[in-house]
Amino acid sequence: MQANIVLLPGDGIGPEVTAEAARVLNAVADLGGHEFQLESHPMGGNAIDDFRNPLPPGTLAACKAADAVFLGAVGGPKWSDPTAELRPEQGLLDLRAELGLFANLRPVPVFESLVEFAPLKPELLRDVDLLFVRELTGGIYFGPRQEQGDGDVAHDTLVYSTAEVERVARVALRAARGRRGKLASIDKANVLASMRLWRRSVTEVVEVTHHLVDAFAMQLMRSPAEYDVILAGNMFGDILSDEAAILAGSLGMLPSASLGSGRQGLYEPVHGSAPDIAGRGIANPIGAILSAAMLLRHSLDLEAEASQVEAAVAAVLGDGLRTADLAPPGQRAVSTTEMGRAVAARLAGA
Ligand code: NAD
Repeated sequence: MQANIVLLPGDGIGPEVTAEAARVLNAVADLGGHEFQLESHPMGGNAIDDFRNPLPPGTLAACKAADAVFLGAVGGPKWSDPTAELRPEQGLLDLRAELGLFANLRPVPVFESLVEFAPLKPELLRDVDLLFVRELTGGIYFGPRQEQGDGDVAHDTLVYSTAEVERVARVALRAARGRRGKLASIDKANVLASMRLWRRSVTEVVEVTHHLVDAFAMQLMRSPAEYDVILAGNMFGDILSDEAAILAGSLGMLPSASLGSGRQGLYEPVHGSAPDIAGRGIANPIGAILSAAMLLRHSLDLEAEASQVEAAVAAVLGDGLRTADLAPPGQRAVSTTEMGRAVAARLAGA
């Protein structure tokens, strides 16, 4: 197949991990006889420096025309003044809005070979395979907000409409059908009216179990293997998926996809630009590579290729290859490039 993929390498370790995701996409294309056009565009802090705009019009136009968009990471100390007029993260929020991406998919992969190094007991982690589906463009992060008086009172508003909840519930339902078929919906229906609407709307669309967010946060650490797809609103999904990140062993392992109503999507590792390790070639590229696998699955409909990439990552970890964030004391860590090359070589059957 032919596909036009826009790469937004971004800042910090973004370009380093994007290079390895691109290497793996090129390996997939070579193997399957696909033609992937990979085109890089500026976005984030580097685009503020060069264009005074975190999402330059040329970048936005290229993203809109693409089959899929891959983002490394944006941001860094140089652009982190909260009062600055231009901020890298604004580019990302604008891009999500422009592409109409309302569902954020965050799998939490637990690789057998990493279980013994994770902070939870190994017996709790075996068979864990979670997928968070987080509503991305509504809820309290986007509701009306106000500061009153001298700024000594402030409020944010949690608003959801039935239509907003139903469309993200459908994404979660589709995902669950392709997996173990279990769907847990998270809310706070015992206290919040918006969350009673959430529960009602989800129930209309799909058969689920409902959980109150506070009890679920505990349950997630106590028996993570019990759950499959977890559907939550913007803020609860944000918090719970970060909590669950601990299960995967390192932030560098986690991929994500942001989807709308069509096939197009935005794919990015969950981590940020990691300025503390940028430029040293030691970042873990697996979150980026697994995001590329999600791109193959969700935007290009290449399920077999996506599974092959995931299997290649599992095999390379099984061989004992570890970047610095995963290596136990005393073990030699491989570089970002070595890890990417190893995954690409596994794919090619080397
Ligand atoms: P971060 O995710 O960049 O880093 C947190 C810690 O995890 C650091 O110690 C870092 O070295 C480590 N880490 C992250 N990714 C890693 C990888 N692939 N391999 C090995 N170690 C890794 O979060 P932060 O330090 O809070 O944020 C840094 C910058 O990134 C900020 O400017 C923030 O706004 C931005 N950020 C961007 C995104 C995004 O682009 N989507 C997401 C989160 C944060």
